[in-house]
Amino acid sequence: MILKGKYGIITGGAGGIGKASAALFLSEGIEGVLLVDLKQEDLEAAKAELNDKRVFIYSADVSKAADVKGYTEKASDIFGKIDIVFLNAGTEGVVKPLTEYSEEEYDLVMNVNVKGVWMGMKYAFPFMEKTGGGSIIITSSVAGLTGTAKMIAYTTSKHATIGAMRVGAKEGAPFNIRVNTIHPSPVDNRMMRSLEDQFAPGAGSEVKKGFESMIPLGRYAVNEDIAEMALFLASDKSKFITGAMHVVDGGFSA
Ligand code: NAD
Repeated sequence: MILKGKYGIITGGAGGIGKASAALFLSEGIEGVLLVDLKQEDLEAAKAELNDKRVFIYSADVSKAADVKGYTEKASDIFGKIDIVFLNAGTEGVVKPLTEYSEEEYDLVMNVNVKGVWMGMKYAFPFMEKTGGGSIIITSSVAGLTGTAKMIAYTTSKHATIGAMRVGAKEGAPFNIRVNTIHPSPVDNRMMRSLEDQFAPGAGSEVKKGFESMIPLGRYAVNEDIAEMALFLASDKSKFITGAMHVVDGGFSA
């Protein structure tokens, strides 16, 4: 019950890692969690699956300032304080050489994955400053540590979150706001199915085998592997940890 007394927000809360994290946070005693995602119907399905009265939902586009302000105020209104902000919403973009990327394709990924993270901190900080601080967790990727051919926008965006995290950690520290990134290797969920299929249409399972052969522990992560790291960073067990990158990758980047 390491999240007893805490309230949190999870963006991308209807997706693989977000929903698994919500389930784990609930099992560890969180008092209330606001799931934020694009589509109301996905949020309602996630809420039904989690089946817990501590779950609240809010439909928002994390790349729009009014929406980010909206979900932050909603959490503050319902809970009275915000201890955990898991900035986890993300989009993979399209797989193609950088010369073929359009401006629109690039901007979409950067707006969601980078601007969404900055604005998540921008609006959460003032509430957290007033109530003793807390933990902000950003889902980056192993794509934030090395380059992946044909993924210019995603790779750039996930590198950029490290910079955002470091600035957030320094500006947040005087208020006891901690900021960290998580760097998962491929996770066995919707996003990887999309990427596998884009890398090799109709032969995604071959792409999966190729990735798996590069992972010393021999498999993709499951959503729960990433949720466990989010739980640690959300809890007071990590109270002296800020400004750091936390790799969860079965040895991929070793
Ligand atoms: P997912 O696609 O299941 O979840 C992502 C969620 O983000 C979706 O529910 C989606 O609707 C939401 N989202 C996308 N754009 C949004 C927007 N503009 N506003 C609000 N919500 C938006 O995949 P996931 O693996 O659970 O992704 C969670 C995070 O993990 C992402 O940041 C992703 O980049 C990162 N990540 C994933 C993998 C992987 O292999 N799946 C690996 C490393 C990092």
